[in-house]
Amino acid sequence: MSASEDTLRYVTEAADVLALPPRIRKLLTTPERELKVQVAIERENGEVAVFSGYRIQHNKARGPYKGGLRYHPEVDADEVQSLAALMTWKTAVANIPYGGSKGGIACDPGKLSERELERLTRAFVGKIHEFIGPQVDIPAPDVNTNAQVMAWFMDEYSRLHGFSPAVVTGKPVDLFGSEGRDEATGFGVVVATERALALENRPVAGVRVALQGFGNVGSHTARILAEKGAKVVAVADHTGGAKRAEGLDVPALLDYARKNKGGVGGFPGGQPTTSPETLAADCDVLIPAALGHVLTKENAAAVRAKWIVEGANAPTTPDADAILRKRGVTVIPDILANAGGVTASYFEWVQNLQQHRWGREKVLDETRGVLARAFDTVAGIVREKKLAWRTAAFVVALGRVAKAVALRGL
Ligand code: NAD
Repeated sequence: MSASEDTLRYVTEAADVLALPPRIRKLLTTPERELKVQVAIERENGEVAVFSGYRIQHNKARGPYKGGLRYHPEVDADEVQSLAALMTWKTAVANIPYGGSKGGIACDPGKLSERELERLTRAFVGKIHEFIGPQVDIPAPDVNTNAQVMAWFMDEYSRLHGFSPAVVTGKPVDLFGSEGRDEATGFGVVVATERALALENRPVAGVRVALQGFGNVGSHTARILAEKGAKVVAVADHTGGAKRAEGLDVPALLDYARKNKGGVGGFPGGQPTTSPETLAADCDVLIPAALGHVLTKENAAAVRAKWIVEGANAPTTPDADAILRKRGVTVIPDILANAGGVTASYFEWVQNLQQHRWGREKVLDETRGVLARAFDTVAGIVREKKLAWRTAAFVVALGRVAKAVALRGL
């Protein structure tokens, strides 16, 4: 099953609960615009390389399109479409005034020099700039893109359209970025984890956590959880992993990853482990924070965690989700659990438009407020309608977008 078919299954389930009419369903499941462009750059060695780039705008009923930009060899139209739809549902659950979109370039950034990455980013902006903008569609960082990529993006767009800091979020703090944005997704994953545990009277302190992925989302999640007294018992990424039943020394792991291009493989403070082993680690909370579709029907039965908090987008396939539901594992879905990033991005955009700056505490406090309200709204639906968390989150999201679509008219 393709990535977009997976997302469609979750959407259909929620649409059934809401008894949405077919005409609204059709509008909610069809992306409004799909761009595919060829991005050509000259490599350092003088050769020309051509990459496929995508920007898919799913729905703007509730506000401008908003969604990340991913650089990865597996980026394709189907994956981007599924991620664009998830953004519509995520901004709706968080109740921030945006729609959903996503973009990406099929490339391996590890094989490109810094200058090539800059050229690629600027060339991509050249191809899509007429279809994005501060009031139209606002990209942000995702897998393998960071604040530097956003800085090039903003600069190139501003060259074409005049000074436009609000065209992307996740920029460097020294270039119209926001304090708190970098850590906001991990911060939000922790807010969701805390609230999910609190429903069963479990404090975060002492809880055993395993994480897959130690990039932007995984590393901040691990850091904040460790600061709150959780035991991070296993971490794995594409370079390897480390486990320790008594809990890894997270500050030492962060330091190690910083010195090893972000990778945790070979960390001396624990026994070596792998990514598949980490998904089945002996822990209370499992946090997938790398790529999508890692929990499947083949490995879902092996998960030992009681809670899964989805830091990554679409880490659980519908078949795995069904198995986990049957087994009584509480899955806090991506559109709720990792909405901290887009929420802080929203505050960055607000600051750019108002030409004003907020401090880190204000950004994180406001982000916490948005996420807590979203969590409590979804929790209310879980209780009232006896639904799984994912279905309840989609019910909240679809309900809001359907209402906006109906009010706007065709
Ligand atoms: P990143 O590029 O900073 O980190 C990606 C991590 O995934 C790295 O630790 C990498 O080693 C790991 N990884 C890649 N391939 C792997 C593999 N085959 N096995 C194990 N680990 C692997 O990206 P990120 O921004 O942290 O994003 C991670 C996930 O979170 C993605 O699904 C992304 O869509 C989602 N997300 C990110 C944000 C954000 O603000 N950055 C917001 C919401 C959701």
